[in-house]
Amino acid sequence: MPVKTILIVEDEKAIREMIAFGMRRAGFEIREAQDTRAARAEIGNRRPDLLLVDWMLPDMSGLEFTRQLKRDPNLKDLPVIMLTARAEEADKVAGLEGGADDYVTKPFSTRELVARIQAVLRRADPQVAGEIIQIEGLRLDPVAHRVTADERPVTLGPTEYRMLEFFMTHPDRVYSREQLLDRIWGGNVYVEERTIDVHIRRLRKALEDFGYDRLVQTVRGAGYRFSARGE
Ligand code: CA
Repeated sequence: MPVKTILIVEDEKAIREMIAFGMRRAGFEIREAQDTRAARAEIGNRRPDLLLVDWMLPDMSGLEFTRQLKRDPNLKDLPVIMLTARAEEADKVAGLEGGADDYVTKPFSTRELVARIQAVLRRADPQVAGEIIQIEGLRLDPVAHRVTADERPVTLGPTEYRMLEFFMTHPDRVYSREQLLDRIWGGNVYVEERTIDVHIRRLRKALEDFGYDRLVQTVRGAGYRFSARGE
């Protein structure tokens, strides 16, 4: 199972370090940001798998930050767990309405936080559990990094593999080239948008012999979609 990266956005160093310590022990890779500006830079650098966002931050409230992320088409799928010292129900509701995927009230135990993180990651991304993903006769094993089509092996380059993994975990939705670049290559890497088309072509070619190239669909003027349903 690939190691999942968590970005902790919290200005209080002692709390941030305490959370980081517990989460590292739980097997996560941890990055830290002391405010939302630093968090933006970290996300742009390399997209984390989940954000822990404190409610009280110096440059913007964690709630407003989460709202901004959830309004951004490239970042709205990034899971966010809000941390807060406030226990009032009204704040919880505000946090969830702001788009947070879950909400943990301080003080919390490491165990509780890990359980919440795993639940949110599982919902966001079924491959976290190392589950084999299957669409029609196409099977992708995220642990073994192996793809088969009707039980015959499919040979893919590393980028085509990541592309297929992304598509199979996000089926039936249209993604623009820009979104695919962001999700498959990550933020600040300079790749031209037409590079996407090159890899799409290679992916289709690899699936062609099995008849599954039809799952990789071009949506004119919008981007690409992976779907077992008709175009
Ligand atoms: Ca804080």
